[in-house]
Amino acid sequence: MTYTKRPDGREMHELRPIRAEVGIIPNADGSALFASGKTVAIAAVYGPKILHPASMRNPEKGIIRCEYNMLPFSVSERARPGPSRRSKEISKVTSNALSSVVDLSRFPNSVVDVQIMILQADAGTRCAGINAASMALAHAGIVMNELVTSVSIGKIDDKIVADITKEEEDWEEGEGPTDIPFTMTSRKNDIVHLQLDGNIPTSRFKESIDASVKACNKILDYQIRALKGEKINENEGKK
Ligand code: UDP
Repeated sequence: MTYTKRPDGREMHELRPIRAEVGIIPNADGSALFASGKTVAIAAVYGPKILHPASMRNPEKGIIRCEYNMLPFSVSERARPGPSRRSKEISKVTSNALSSVVDLSRFPNSVVDVQIMILQADAGTRCAGINAASMALAHAGIVMNELVTSVSIGKIDDKIVADITKEEEDWEEGEGPTDIPFTMTSRKNDIVHLQLDGNIPTSRFKESIDASVKACNKILDYQIRALKGEKINENEGKK
């Protein structure tokens, strides 16, 4: 069976309904929620504060320390709490992406902690977490050269699609699914994070970059609106 229609009825380049809001955790220095359909992520930023142990301090610049976690019941089969290989990998790629836009020279010897929690997962959680974290850092007043925006582009059978769901990730027929999470900077559209799960011919890779630029620009608009104080909830009234 060839893949001609998305299971949830979306157009190939259409995003899921978005929720975006900042200031959701009053005790944090900065915080944000970003949801794409049934994938819901929150991020909280604490700091900058002096880094311990002292041997890790750098008098020239600070560091961004990210921790990504999923709530045990965010997925249908309970996720084991605590660090895993997957959560360490996602924390690392998230730190790298965020560090590329934050002006680290502003907080020498210090650390900014970014806690990301996935409340509900339906694929694309690393992207939702990065989007929330980027907003939370800006909300905390951390100086950034640009924002970052993330989306997962899929190749399902022979179609390039934006913001894939778990059901699409599990599509087994034809050429099968490919999942390509991209993170781009807001002004220069530099790619600061790119992963690939599956296969894509080089000749079609350019198409996936074009799709991610378009999708990230749309998502950026929501991030900026939320940072200006809007509470966006396109999920309202949907189950
Ligand atoms: N997932 C799950 N249990 C896990 C990890 C992942 O059910 O322990 C599901 C969840 O819906 C997640 C999806 O698999 O969003 C895809 O996971 P992946 O590792 O590809 O990362 P993501 O797409 O969430 O960034």
